[in-house]
Amino acid sequence: LGVLATGAMVVSLAACSGGGSGSDAGAGDGGLVGVAMPTKSSERWINDGNAVKEQLEAKGFKVDLQYAEDDIPTQVSQIENMITKGAKALIVASIDGTTLTSVLQDAADADIPVIAYDRLIRDTDNVSYYASFDNFKVGQQQAWSMLNGLGLVGLDGTPTDGAPAGPFNVELFAGSPDDNNATFFYNGAMDVLQPLIDDKTIVVKSGQTDFNTAATLRWDGEEAQSRMENILTSTYSDGSKVNGILSPYDGISRGIISALEGAGYSTGAEWPVISGQDAELDSVKAIVSGEQYATIFKDTRKLAEVAVSMTLALLNGDTPEINNTTDYDNGVKVVDSYLLDSAIVVKDNITEQLVDSGYWTQAEIDG
Ligand code: BGC
Repeated sequence: LGVLATGAMVVSLAACSGGGSGSDAGAGDGGLVGVAMPTKSSERWINDGNAVKEQLEAKGFKVDLQYAEDDIPTQVSQIENMITKGAKALIVASIDGTTLTSVLQDAADADIPVIAYDRLIRDTDNVSYYASFDNFKVGQQQAWSMLNGLGLVGLDGTPTDGAPAGPFNVELFAGSPDDNNATFFYNGAMDVLQPLIDDKTIVVKSGQTDFNTAATLRWDGEEAQSRMENILTSTYSDGSKVNGILSPYDGISRGIISALEGAGYSTGAEWPVISGQDAELDSVKAIVSGEQYATIFKDTRKLAEVAVSMTLALLNGDTPEINNTTDYDNGVKVVDSYLLDSAIVVKDNITEQLVDSGYWTQAEIDG
């Protein structure tokens, strides 16, 4: 990442030599914070992990940053290890939000606060706070971005004057069923799309509108590719075309693009509108080239800031800042949350959203 990340590294040197007399808990004392991330197979989690690590180090902490390559037992044992090593706090982006109950009981027994990072951890009392985005809104934005590409609404969801009547053929993809976010994204999207399905402006020609049918285990792009191939064969071999595809994640969008290419779709007029999420570099390039229409930008640096400031507050005995106490019931309790805003990125606002904010440089996008 660009400028901000470098800036944080510079601050880190200064903070580490500070001797611990500053106002931040842990400054200079070298306490350990465990950071558990799901996988390196997606760029966003690498950016998240790096941002959290740099920002914690800037506050004088040592950081044990681990990636579990989407394997649940690996993540459990990584967290177990962090507890054994004496971590003062844990920041966890779970693979399956329901599988950490036992290891987080061990954390609680050792008085270690736990922050759920981006993905809610379910079925446990032992999660202190949740740092994330407004995930229902992200889903709405994904639907708005697809409808925007079809000429039906503005990027804020306002219906366009003189919009085409349709009907448009669309297909729907959802994320991993064990990730609490996936249902929030899908429900947000369906909140926008259902009225247009009902009035027949859009038609899900495959009939596959159920979350479980649309879901993609572990957000796997290859699984999405083969589902798209099957839909194209089963539903569109009569010569009809799919006009729009709701995709919840850039890696899934790339799988969908491969399926369309394999089925002989050509870029240009007949190419469908495809949404996404995460502003991954390859997908930003695909937006420039027109293969993907949009993505959702969630600034991982800002999410890291929220998680790090929650950690600092907890270790200082202060109350972390939150802005939501209602939306994230994990099955045992409603977890106090701080939710950030996300933004739709289309070709026209790449510079404003991604380059001006320093998330990607123009050279990276052009490269
Ligand atoms: C995150 C998304 C990401 C997806 C796949 C979700 O939990 O919120 O940003 O696209 O996981 O990694």
